[in-house]
Amino acid sequence: MLELRDVCTFYGNIPALHGISLRVNEGEIVTLIGANGAGKTTTLMTICGGIQARSGEILYEGSPIQRLRPNQIVRLGISQVPEGRLIFPELTVQENLDLGAFLRSDKENIRRDMDYIFSLFPILAQRRRQAGGTLSGGEQQMLAISRAIMGRPRLLLLDEPSLGLAPIIIQQIFSIIQKINHDGTTVFLVEQNANQALKIAHRGYVMENGRVVMENSAEALLNDQSVRRAYLGM
Ligand code: ATP
Repeated sequence: MLELRDVCTFYGNIPALHGISLRVNEGEIVTLIGANGAGKTTTLMTICGGIQARSGEILYEGSPIQRLRPNQIVRLGISQVPEGRLIFPELTVQENLDLGAFLRSDKENIRRDMDYIFSLFPILAQRRRQAGGTLSGGEQQMLAISRAIMGRPRLLLLDEPSLGLAPIIIQQIFSIIQKINHDGTTVFLVEQNANQALKIAHRGYVMENGRVVMENSAEALLNDQSVRRAYLGM
């Protein structure tokens, strides 16, 4: 579904990605793990057009997207949940969700997707008239994911959904990501919380200093000695 071939991205003259290659097959959860500053967010931003790759190719369903603008990429069915959640704090939960559907006109399906979201996150239904900024960190993450789903993506890109959340909330969010995947959305998950990410992913890539240094099934990575030492604290 998504393939990066030898992608290089720079900030000014400074290289951040040194020829990244990876792929996400339809139906998978694929995770990209790595330490602070490894280049995970840059990879995600390059995929969704926030930063232009200087060289290499990004293919979505076989067609190059590396020259498209972010709004064109969203229209192809790729939605991103950026790091730090970035909901609209002054708008209500309902208004945030409505914004997620602003490219759509299929009212009946929008209503159905709204019901789907409220079944995933009943707390958002209770809070639908509350300003987004007054939600807890975990609820804001739920809202950010839900807003992305309102765009009906086929591929959902998530940047550190666990950031700053309590372990019990992280588990809840990750099991919902699994459910969203099970219900038909392909997921590319960038995470520092390697343990949780590998537990729900099918496959994973390990990134260091702007390079992919390892790839394997999530299970194999969870059992790999060097991954356990470097990223799982074992
Ligand atoms: P974290 O988990 O801390 O978010 P990351 O793996 O997502 O880390 P990136 O944010 O992609 O890493 O950063 C990769 C490298 O690019 C780092 O060296 C970082 O300092 C640099 N970088 C990121 N954003 C910019 C920017 N806007 N301008 C210049 N350099 C940047």
